[in-house]
Amino acid sequence: MVEDNLKRVYKELPPGVKLVAVSKFHPCEEIMAAYKAGQRRFGENRPQEYASKVVQLPEDIEWHFIGHLQTNKLKLVLPYASLVESIDSRHLLDAVERWGSENDKVIDVLLELHLGAEETKGGFTETEIEDILDSVVRQAHHPYPHIRFRGLMGMATNTDDVDVVEADFARIEAFKKHLDAKYALPDFSELSIGMSHDWPLAVLHGATIVRIGTAIFGPRNY
Ligand SMILES: *Cc1c(COP(=O)(O)O)cnc(C)c1O
Repeated sequence: MVEDNLKRVYKELPPGVKLVAVSKFHPCEEIMAAYKAGQRRFGENRPQEYASKVVQLPEDIEWHFIGHLQTNKLKLVLPYASLVESIDSRHLLDAVERWGSENDKVIDVLLELHLGAEETKGGFTETEIEDILDSVVRQAHHPYPHIRFRGLMGMATNTDDVDVVEADFARIEAFKKHLDAKYALPDFSELSIGMSHDWPLAVLHGATIVRIGTAIFGPRNY
């Protein structure tokens, strides 16, 4: 089933767009089914679960961390993450920089832009993201030498109203273009938007990464 689902997604996904198979709440056997079908990029959102899966599964898996990350959990996540997609506060960014400095590692991250109306959802405002990138480009010895800023991540409003979702995607797409024009950061190339129910629309709005769980692994049993 997992193999068929993956095939279905890849058939429609443009070749330049990277698929993160979101395996949260699904056991290692399911991940291995996707692995055997050729998938190598997986995403998890809970540090403990992520860390326990990483050590049980093949080393050539590219792990993306996509969930809210508390600073006391960094050591579970950062040693193995090829991309931390969900940097959602200065506090977290500063802590990741400190961890990188202490461990002599450069961490690839996306900055999460707050999209949608939900008050509880995390992420930066546009202004906060520009403040961070200002500090990176303006200062010779900028505050984040152990962080590589790879782009933006966003989650559209959780609704069936396509116009609302489309407005969210259009907003982050326009903001990404604005940042590219203003800063021209060479590594800032990724736009991670789109989940199981809205990824084709995200691709139309410039997604370079889509994060798909349910459409590959089926529903999650919380
Ligand atoms: C769970 C999750 C996804 C995948 O959601 P599906 O609807 O199952 O595809 C994508 N992004 C983030 C940040 C998630 O937490």
